[in-house]
Amino acid sequence: MDPKILGNLSYGVYVISTLDQEKYAGCLANSVIQISSKPYTVLVSMHRDNYTNVCIKKCKKFGISILNEETDLNVIGTFGFQSSKSVNKFHNIRNQLIQEVPILTDSCGYIICSVVDAIETSTHTLFIGEVEKMGGYNEKSPMTYRYYHEVLKGTTPKNAPTYIEQKNEEERVFKSKKKWKCKVCGYIYEAEEIPKDFLCPICGQPHTEFVLIE
Ligand code: FE
Repeated sequence: MDPKILGNLSYGVYVISTLDQEKYAGCLANSVIQISSKPYTVLVSMHRDNYTNVCIKKCKKFGISILNEETDLNVIGTFGFQSSKSVNKFHNIRNQLIQEVPILTDSCGYIICSVVDAIETSTHTLFIGEVEKMGGYNEKSPMTYRYYHEVLKGTTPKNAPTYIEQKNEEERVFKSKKKWKCKVCGYIYEAEEIPKDFLCPICGQPHTEFVLIE
């Protein structure tokens, strides 16, 4: 079987946020689809190991921030490669509370949902949400999953539904010079040396967190 075929399915890039008692939780997702318009219903696929998954099950409410092509990569590093269990991801990321759910300012639209059903698969939960509120539309282009990979050179967190073996992605990304890999997020930087002031554009780690892979 060739997993590249699944890469031809189209996806966006989103931050899914929710309440965690007195705090907030959130993580990156790429599998969000609209199911119906009467009523407006959407589906989000999220790995069961994600702390945000546990929090959504408790409060039965979540928000979707739709990232755009200009969204700061620090947003992806923060929400895609760290856990809300140990980090307050919203501390350094601009957001506003809408119906008590934090929504990123740096987005091109948001959707607030109440959970009406949750279907368990072997690894992921499919949260079905009825839309309570949506807004924040602007003219920015939504970030597609392909744009994230091909233009921003982003990598896939291990819990994403679309995760495939890392070696497949590395084979696809670059073809020359030395390759340095971020130990935290897997971002690959191509150069003879990494500048001392270099910070990973995906997760913000310093040059010392990069290892030479070839
Ligand atoms: Fe990184």
